[in-house]
Amino acid sequence: MSSDKKMSLTVKVLLGMALGIAVGLGLNLSGLISNSFVDTYLVNGLFHMVGKMFVNALKMLVVPLVFFSLICGVCGIGDVRMLGRVGGKSFALYMMTTAVAIATAILIAVTFGIGQGMNIETAAEFSGKESPPLTQVFIDIIPKNPISAMANGDMLPIIFFSILLGISMLMLGKKAKSFVEGAEIANEIMMKMVNIVMSVAPYAVFALIAKAVATLGLDLLASLAGYVLVLVGALMFHLFITLMITLKVFSGLSPAMFLKKIRNVQVFAFSTASSNATIPVTMRTVTQRFGVNNSVASFTVPFGATINMDGTAIMQGVATVFIANVYGVELGISGYLTVILMSVLASIGTAGVPGVGLIMLSMVFTQVGLPVEGIGLILGVDRLMDMIRTAVNVSGDATVSSIVAKSEGKLDLSIYNDPDAGMVDIDEELDIDDSVEAEMAAAIQGTKSRD
Ligand code: ASP
Repeated sequence: MSSDKKMSLTVKVLLGMALGIAVGLGLNLSGLISNSFVDTYLVNGLFHMVGKMFVNALKMLVVPLVFFSLICGVCGIGDVRMLGRVGGKSFALYMMTTAVAIATAILIAVTFGIGQGMNIETAAEFSGKESPPLTQVFIDIIPKNPISAMANGDMLPIIFFSILLGISMLMLGKKAKSFVEGAEIANEIMMKMVNIVMSVAPYAVFALIAKAVATLGLDLLASLAGYVLVLVGALMFHLFITLMITLKVFSGLSPAMFLKKIRNVQVFAFSTASSNATIPVTMRTVTQRFGVNNSVASFTVPFGATINMDGTAIMQGVATVFIANVYGVELGISGYLTVILMSVLASIGTAGVPGVGLIMLSMVFTQVGLPVEGIGLILGVDRLMDMIRTAVNVSGDATVSSIVAKSEGKLDLSIYNDPDAGMVDIDEELDIDDSVEAEMAAAIQGTKSRD
């Protein structure tokens, strides 16, 4: 298997992204986007359809993948007490990085004084949504009905149920062995499905990004340049400085290798604007490219996608300062501390799906007495900001997964340090061996004739 071939999917995905940006910008700047044919059949027709189909395919994988890999993770852990430690460490690190993220964001935004002297002219209406109280968030971790939790894709109750199921299998011992083996095979099958879906990623990423960029209000972007620049700057600061220092200090792992290997996951997060939909790709990368053992990754990745939102918290910090300045509201230290606390707590109860950050923001605003309709000001640029902050969110999930795995002796350094480890070779991945086909057919025939 040549290294060139192994490179091809990553390169193709990046190419799809670059081409998507180019085509999207072309359509937007040339004004072609206002042509009803281009709009109806190309951007909101073909691009929309291809992109949505791909996001659906990713979402389709999330629940079974998390379910089976968690069962395997719990049964393969070797020591159930480790579960508690992994849970405690990852929870603490997720909360800590989110708190640091929003605190730095507020500091940067206050330093630049964004929004001062701006005219209040809300571009769009925004009315906030009520979020469930924190007590309810904890209550809902335990599913009344695991099937409905799975049907709704509610990550925390699915994690709870799968861990309990795995522990029960361990308690049952030998009797449950074939069930555990079945889960292992199912997990491998799901990973294979991830590869199949990823094989069309370059085209899907192109469609998703071309549509997003084509419909972007570029004039809006310019009028909100202060907000956008400070927000993107704070996101980059968190990704390249805070997270990488955290990785180095807590695990000693190489940040350069991390940044090289995380690119694929970031592109998926950027195109889908959903940490949840990116779970299959994050899981695959963290286990096969970083060398994190499934017993850690099966928990930390879906857990992180749900409760860890560093990028979202950064947006909330910057948006709070921006809108407080626009409306001339003085928040003061206690106001900002409330914002930090609220935003960290809000991240626990909200899933990683597109646009959820704005809903969390409305809760924060209500708490500190800022006008919720102020969110209308930043609504127009939020999709693009959502794409960027989701890439930061998933990078945080992978950082914490690597740190926790390293601290538990569950990270294979030879995989982490090998730049080519776990690359997808699509030709090889999607190949079906003729002899396997014949064997399967014969096995099925055998079962039928026995019937
Ligand atoms: N789209 C983000 C995520 O999935 C959440 C948000 O900031 O809206 O992580």
